[in-house]
Amino acid sequence: MQSTKHIGWNFDNSYTKLSKSMFSFVKPQAVQAPKLCVFNNQLAKKMGLNMAEVSEDEIALWFSGNALIEGANPIAQAYAGHQFGHFTMLGDGRAILLGEHITPIGNRLDIQLKGAGQTPYSRRGDGRATLRAMLREYLISEAMFGLKIPTSRSLAVVTSGEEVYREDVHEGAILTRIASSHIRVGTFEFVSNFLSIEDLQRFTKYVIERHYPEIQYRECPPLEFLKVVMSRQIDLVVNWMRVGFIHGVMNTDNMSVAGETFDYGPCAFMNIYHPQTVFSSIDTGGRYAFGNQPRITHWNLSCLAGALLPIIHDDKATAIAMAQDVLKEFSILFEKRWTEMMGLKLGFNVSAMSSEVAELIHELLTWMEDHQADYTNTFLVLQSGSKDFSGIYSNSVFIQWVSKWHYLLNQKEILLENAVICMQTYNPQFIPRNYFFEQALDDVCYQQDFKLLNQLLQVMENPYTMNPEFDFLQQLPETDDKDYKTYCGT
Ligand code: AMP
Ligand code: MG
Repeated sequence: MQSTKHIGWNFDNSYTKLSKSMFSFVKPQAVQAPKLCVFNNQLAKKMGLNMAEVSEDEIALWFSGNALIEGANPIAQAYAGHQFGHFTMLGDGRAILLGEHITPIGNRLDIQLKGAGQTPYSRRGDGRATLRAMLREYLISEAMFGLKIPTSRSLAVVTSGEEVYREDVHEGAILTRIASSHIRVGTFEFVSNFLSIEDLQRFTKYVIERHYPEIQYRECPPLEFLKVVMSRQIDLVVNWMRVGFIHGVMNTDNMSVAGETFDYGPCAFMNIYHPQTVFSSIDTGGRYAFGNQPRITHWNLSCLAGALLPIIHDDKATAIAMAQDVLKEFSILFEKRWTEMMGLKLGFNVSAMSSEVAELIHELLTWMEDHQADYTNTFLVLQSGSKDFSGIYSNSVFIQWVSKWHYLLNQKEILLENAVICMQTYNPQFIPRNYFFEQALDDVCYQQDFKLLNQLLQVMENPYTMNPEFDFLQQLPETDDKDYKTYCGT
């Protein structure tokens, strides 16, 4: 094999040194005709990869798994998880971790091929993925990065030249996913339920050293780990709620302990504000509805706490009491950070937060819900600084609310123009509107037309900047996505 060192690949596969029960060595299954569909040059550069001399065909060989990059040592990771509340054994059934690449500035990144063939955890699945689902993850994960929300990233989509059978026949593809790790709440549930306490100790130490080295010398690192994961996940979900993101399938196996958004399946973006908004076809009970995401985060953290109990304290009752002390802070912490975030969306800096601002936020949300206002656009209307409101915004209750908002800003000695500057960094001008990105995916999959996809990718690189050329991408669907349904990525 030709050396790939000059390109900048620098693998160090620490996960393969863990207990052998944690993973299986498995090679990607070669595909018939790999062809590069999308490649993320900016991300490659950030990873320290110099791809200038590499042909598209060679890139397609690497990111389909047909050729192995020097230093890679592919594995499928074992994990378990609570899916819609039910505990089950899982694992990478259609994803293969090539290894961990160390970037020039020392960041450790998982390089994973999604759709790379069957593994010992595939159960009855084919280990493959459709082009549409992989492009969807590429687009949304990159949009989330543009929105400044922690996320896994997408380096490439390669079509396989093979058919994938779902309800219909689809073109197959492989996505190269980059993440700070793929360690999930469900990975802890797997180790705690099926391996030894020593394995749980070793694994927790490994994860702390990898993600949170600052807590390794504290008195009870597993408890500190629970605290820090709680804090990261609160920040993450608050960020989702800032832009109207609905993850759609917050099972414990889809929640990263590093606090990154990942496992993009039936996710979507909310248009009209309503806390019960759900698009996922399988979420009939609304478990993962927009406004239920905080409650589910807490529920998932309780699962993490349960998995960590044996190493928090030898005495079970003491361990439970210690974990409960951490978890009982959740609601206060979430409410505080959510209120601060919503305050920033209205131009109140954190030091200006007060119960009146909190009340103002709730009044605005109630108005949006009552008047079926678009979540993103309502903040943009306010941020425009205009006092001349039209359409639903000419409503007297809204105008009264605006007066109260101005009064409170004034009381906090915040000039409207300064509030607007603050708001511009929290309120995106662009979110990926569901029906536009679905249209973009159709265009690629059925017409080989990349125009809309590329426009969306381009605009989502700087979603906080006005860009009149792309204003059409924010038009609302006439039906407000009433019949829009999303499906688990397959
Ligand atoms: P997800 O819905 O992506 O969180 O996946 C749930 C579980 O199903 C994970 O263990 C996946 O690895 C597995 N899975 C999903 N799709 C496939 C597939 N096509 N082949 C094998 N396993 C799959
Ligand atoms: Mg998953």
